[in-house]
Amino acid sequence: MEATDVQEQMRLLKQLQDIDSVVASISHDRQQMQQELGTLDAEVERIGAMVSGLQENLEGLRAERRELEQALSQERDNVVRAESRLPSIKTQKEYVAVLKEVDTAKKMNRDIEERIKGKDEEIGALDQEKQEKDRDLAGQEEQVAARRREIETSLAEMDNTLATSEKERSEFLAQIPLTTRKRYQLLMKRRGGTAVVEARQGACQGCNMQLPPQVYNSLFRQEEVMTCPHCNRLIFLAGE
Ligand SMILES: [Zn+2]
Repeated sequence: MEATDVQEQMRLLKQLQDIDSVVASISHDRQQMQQELGTLDAEVERIGAMVSGLQENLEGLRAERRELEQALSQERDNVVRAESRLPSIKTQKEYVAVLKEVDTAKKMNRDIEERIKGKDEEIGALDQEKQEKDRDLAGQEEQVAARRREIETSLAEMDNTLATSEKERSEFLAQIPLTTRKRYQLLMKRRGGTAVVEARQGACQGCNMQLPPQVYNSLFRQEEVMTCPHCNRLIFLAGE
């Protein structure tokens, strides 16, 4: 049933505007919370990528170390093999050659051992860094999970409120005559969520401009829905 009484129409419009403002504020909060979740997830992803990068580097270093170990073991075999030949050598020349071979292999071994030591240091430092990042990641994930639970609870509550508001909203809308309803909706869009305002001491409270006396007087008669000639908002008298 549409309200024909001007006073009743204005009352409905004010209530409608209250609901719309709640809806707008909830929608805004909702969007912010969803944005916050996105930011938190991105941070977890960022640290996760860092951890994976460190893990990859560690694996690379460990593979290099294994190769060095292999080379070392090969060189050690070479030393043992060369030394085992010494007792059976007949000529001085050959003896010197084998000794030189052993010496070179031993030098090589020391070099490889040095490089392995270097790798161990690199691995140790990187491993420590990775452990720190692992802890960061775990902490961040925990924090995000907790905040996510909070936000999801809030979002569910907001959805409930929005559903209720939407229901009330359609009930109010159905009672407001079509032309007024359309005017209201257009104004809500163009006037930043305030379509219905009070007229106080002869002035529109939406734009603060003085209303022409005939407009102000018509408000008292309540024969039709009045608008402010300056901002076009729907106006009503205070203290009804
Ligand atoms: Zn105005």
